Amino acid sequence: MQNTFSKLAAALVVSAWLSGPSGAQDEVPAEFAGLSEEQAEEVWEFVFGNALFVLMHEAGHMLISEFELPVLGREEDAVDALSTIVILESDNTVYDNALIDASDSWFLTGAAAGAAGADFEFWDEHSVEEQRAYAIVCMMIGHDAETFGGLEAVEEMPEERRESCVWEYQQTASSWFRLLEPHLRESGETPVTITYEEVSQPDLAVYAAAFREAGMLEMAKELIADAFLLDSGIDFQMASCGEPNAFWDPAERTITYCYELGQAHAELLADYMRNEAR
Ligand SMILES: [Zn+2]
Repeated sequence: MQNTFSKLAAALVVSAWLSGPSGAQDEVPAEFAGLSEEQAEEVWEFVFGNALFVLMHEAGHMLISEFELPVLGREEDAVDALSTIVILESDNTVYDNALIDASDSWFLTGAAAGAAGADFEFWDEHSVEEQRAYAIVCMMIGHDAETFGGLEAVEEMPEERRESCVWEYQQTASSWFRLLEPHLRESGETPVTITYEEVSQPDLAVYAAAFREAGMLEMAKELIADAFLLDSGIDFQMASCGEPNAFWDPAERTITYCYELGQAHAELLADYMRNEAR
């Protein structure tokens, strides 16, 4: 896989500014209003990086359900960890940005919720946003402190915590590896079908076109599905679902990434950029 997010983002952005990603309408999405070309490029990269992280997260739910894996603790935390491990262990540094994007998106979501006076949803099945962000950051430095040690979020962490991340990463990665090892595929491809649903809403069409052009689902399939002996009949799809979300449906055996989530990630970073400029 030679595509890089930045090359991809750059190519997409240029075409988005000129004409929209091919096949889409001529408008720049409303979320991008007032951004410089460079900022728009960053926003696209953020959207792609987060999409990759989310797809790996949902693929974690898929593996647990398809292989009937035991889960000790909270499944949401476990699949966040798996997503992080898969990306780190892919040894493709291009994907590392996806982890920075994913942790940033939790920091930004948390800050936005705090600013809006929202209560902490301690009852939620997901950890609160900042915890999800730090969990990703902790695994990144646990895996490679040299590469990721300079991140702003790392500098906020006490030395003691940073050190425990190394052990934590090893333990989590080896636990996952032990569970998944019997299901590893030695060669060939996994028969997963890929569907990019057409959308009629013009505000989402640009995201649909961008993801299709980027080959986002193909990337996700190659990164995770092809590594395992999964039974045929699984579908990875992108669609409009009326809410910014993504899910694994064990009955349909489908991972769905909603275009609205891409739009929401674009809005999140673009809003932050516009507020900063004020
Ligand atoms: Zn989940």
